Amino acid sequence: MIDKFQSAQVVIEGAGPVGLACGILLLQNNPELKLILIDKNPASDDFLANADTRGIAISEGSKQLLQSMGAWVDYAPAIHQVHVSQKGYFGRTVMDSAEIGQPALGHIVRYRDILLSLREQLRCLESKTTSFIWLRETDTTFTMPNVSPNTCFIHADGGLFHEQSAKDLYKDYGQSALVGWLEVKDVKPNVAWERFTEDGPIAILPHHQGQNTKNFVWCAPKAKIDLLSHLPEQEFLIQLKNAIQLPIGQLLNVHQRKSYPLGLNIKKEIVKGNEVWIGNAAQTLHPVAGQGLNLGLRDAYTLARLLNSIYVKSRVNSIDAVKCTLNEYQKQRSRDRQTTIQVTDLMASVFTSTLLPIVIGRGIALSALQWLPPFKNLLARQMMFGQR
Ligand SMILES: Cc1cc2nc3c(=O)[nH]c(=O)nc-3n(C[C@H](O)[C@H](O)[C@H](O)COP(=O)(O)OP(=O)(O)OC[C@H]3O[C@@H](n4cnc5c(N)ncnc54)[C@H](O)[C@@H]3O)c2cc1C
Repeated sequence: MIDKFQSAQVVIEGAGPVGLACGILLLQNNPELKLILIDKNPASDDFLANADTRGIAISEGSKQLLQSMGAWVDYAPAIHQVHVSQKGYFGRTVMDSAEIGQPALGHIVRYRDILLSLREQLRCLESKTTSFIWLRETDTTFTMPNVSPNTCFIHADGGLFHEQSAKDLYKDYGQSALVGWLEVKDVKPNVAWERFTEDGPIAILPHHQGQNTKNFVWCAPKAKIDLLSHLPEQEFLIQLKNAIQLPIGQLLNVHQRKSYPLGLNIKKEIVKGNEVWIGNAAQTLHPVAGQGLNLGLRDAYTLARLLNSIYVKSRVNSIDAVKCTLNEYQKQRSRDRQTTIQVTDLMASVFTSTLLPIVIGRGIALSALQWLPPFKNLLARQMMFGQR
């Protein structure tokens, strides 16, 4: 095995959605690539039955990317309209897929379903490859062998905010997100609501089980989320109704509540010699704008495209070619990363402020978006496609 590590062209550490996507995009174009993927999960998909069921908003751009990999999840409800408003104050905007000429603004897919379909797709590709090694790190005695300096080492070991050590730019918002799903009645299908409250944003999103179910993401100070996590069901629903105060229909039951601490954790330099950081290993964002995974998938896409341009032509590992490619990667990802990080941080900070000038300012911003369609469309396009 040590020999294999020495001769590997690429090593990916971490088989979350971003690491798996990167592996697929590399092997699709180059089945002979000497690639090692280090996965903490077991070979069997059984563990996914109890894995993370949170609904993730996948942008139209990410859908197209997953489709190109053969890893799109079919039972992913579309979002045709997004209503954004703030509780107790003026200012509201509605984004509509028809207005910007797109079939949908995005889709909702469970985290575990994205993992499952990417793993299935990588398994299909595995049988056509000659030098790919999918290494399961379930053996606790595993220690990482030294990797040759000529090998491109991709850190895709992501993780949730509270699992990570602090990076160059670290901000704890003092908030957690409570996620779960609701049984509902008379709630419009294919519509997403984002409601900014004095505690933080609350999102009500479509759910894969159909019209009578919805995902929710409720962001609030940690202490409040701890309390809400354990409230009896009907009491929880009353609190949720009071918190959003929108005539969206009836909320009947709540299921699978789980909380996640939230913060911003950014690596400024995402390339060092032959090493590169992608996805949550490079940036962990507040979920307010639903951008973390979408940004990570764009990381994977750009990196694989650039690496393929050197490895498809040459079987030889060259440290200069790797370094040069990674520097180009850092350059190409800079604008998209910066914009997405700044927009997300702004939304997470500005929309939780209770200072009157800020409350009025964001009301004006939401109203302006509603009445200035070109700006609204520009924002919707950034959210849907980013900058690739
Ligand atoms: C509440 C919440 C809601 C969210 N909603 C959205 C949304 O709507 N839209 C969106 O785009 N994003 C959303 N996100 C963000 C999204 O979940 C992440 O951006 C995404 O999961 C990052 O993927 P990743 O593969 O980089 O990292 P991860 O998903 O963290 O995967 C990393 C993998 O690496 C493994 N690993 C760790 N260390 C090692 C190691 N040493 N060796 C090998 N393997 C290792 C881990 O076990 C894991 O499997 C949300 C996040 C939260 C918390």
